Amino acid sequence: MTETRTPPYGITVLGATGSIGVSTLDVLSRHPDRYQVVALTANTDVEGLYQQCLTHHPAYAVMTDPDAAQHLHERLRASHPDIRILSGVTGLETVAALPQVDYVMAAIVGSAGLLPTLAAARAGKRVMLANKEALVMAGQIFMDEIRRNNAELLPVDSEHNAIFQSMPANFAANPGWAMDEAGVRRILLTASGGPFRTLPLSNLHEVTPDQACAHPNWVMGRKISVDSATMMNKGLEVIEACWLFNATPDRIQVVLHPQSVVHSMVEYNDGSILAQLGSPDMRTPIAYALAWPQRIESGVAPLSLFDVGRLDFERPDMARFPCLRLAYEAMQAGGTAPAILNAANEIAVAAFLNGTLKFTAIPAVIEATLARVAAHAATSLEIILADDALARESARGHIMDATQGRGAAVARGLS
Ligand code: NAD
Ligand code: MG
Repeated sequence: MTETRTPPYGITVLGATGSIGVSTLDVLSRHPDRYQVVALTANTDVEGLYQQCLTHHPAYAVMTDPDAAQHLHERLRASHPDIRILSGVTGLETVAALPQVDYVMAAIVGSAGLLPTLAAARAGKRVMLANKEALVMAGQIFMDEIRRNNAELLPVDSEHNAIFQSMPANFAANPGWAMDEAGVRRILLTASGGPFRTLPLSNLHEVTPDQACAHPNWVMGRKISVDSATMMNKGLEVIEACWLFNATPDRIQVVLHPQSVVHSMVEYNDGSILAQLGSPDMRTPIAYALAWPQRIESGVAPLSLFDVGRLDFERPDMARFPCLRLAYEAMQAGGTAPAILNAANEIAVAAFLNGTLKFTAIPAVIEATLARVAAHAATSLEIILADDALARESARGHIMDATQGRGAAVARGLS
């Protein structure tokens, strides 16, 4: 596909109003001759998408929520009648597959990103993948669609982008790639440990959503921020790495690295370890995914190693971070177990963010859901989505049981 593409490259940004979406538009605006924004999407943030339409003049704007789409249409009608407004999941799938689109930034949060990201893969686009949940839920199906349709898959998650950069040069072009043949012994996946890495364990049960979202090094959306605090984010990233790099979970070692300067590493069988370093700013992996195999200016200030001074590495504490253990176990179990894990996590995190669930109950909800919902072979999207739905129902039920004593209003907030 790449040979036939010439600048300006047409871009769809799925999840344009989010943290990754905004960083992507920042990088794109530094290269107006190289990239052209074709479509922007958001869920309900009419004002955010309206402002982005004024700045970036896309041909299409999609709001998943139909009422929000109607509001956006009314606001843009007079000044920008040429911008086509679409809605719903079909709107997202349409703009992921438009013929004038070369690259799709997949930056919707959570399972909602799966279908539009798959649509981009099926249309043979360059998929710049931030939405790790798509791979966690449907890794085999997604990777098969990428290969079958000659699409390109560029990881945007900073760790996976770092691993991609540290892999042998021919890795990306080799669909039958095997770690052993390339001399790769292990992947060293770094993790900051989030805001509660050193908090006394006895204080963990009383942490608030705002404390959990105050990440020491990265500014991110609220869901991934909570995932970073529980280290479920790292668990999802282990699963993501297994699919991206054709690895088994035992070949992926999580390494705590509180400075978030080394973004991950690849260990080779001759004893070499290759790493990618940089400031904790998502514009670097975004620029890399956009320009690969070239490099472009990202707006990120050069990293001063003298200011960083030292780099620390620690073993993760599985007792403090049970979500990490649960993610390893789900990947080892295989089939739809990772989709069940992901669904239960989404429900538990939403309940924590709305004040219904304690932080320390998040892993308990996930573990109970994994015990209650049987996993199946993940041979079709229907099977995966059915187990995803069952897991959500089961997780809600578990939270309801656990919070019954706290009144009916709490329970209503979960439905
Ligand atoms: P965010 O919450 O800031 O933004 C999410 C975007 O998705 C918004 O544009 C929102 O409108 C859209 N969205 C939300 N629900 C939707 C739905 N149901 N249907 C359609 N669109 C919907 O999230 P973020 O931090 O930008 O993260 C986006 C994705 O990137 C996540 O999968 C996350 O794990 C991944 N990621 C983020 C970072 C980061 O630094 N923020 C780093 C690595 C990976
Ligand atoms: Mg990451």
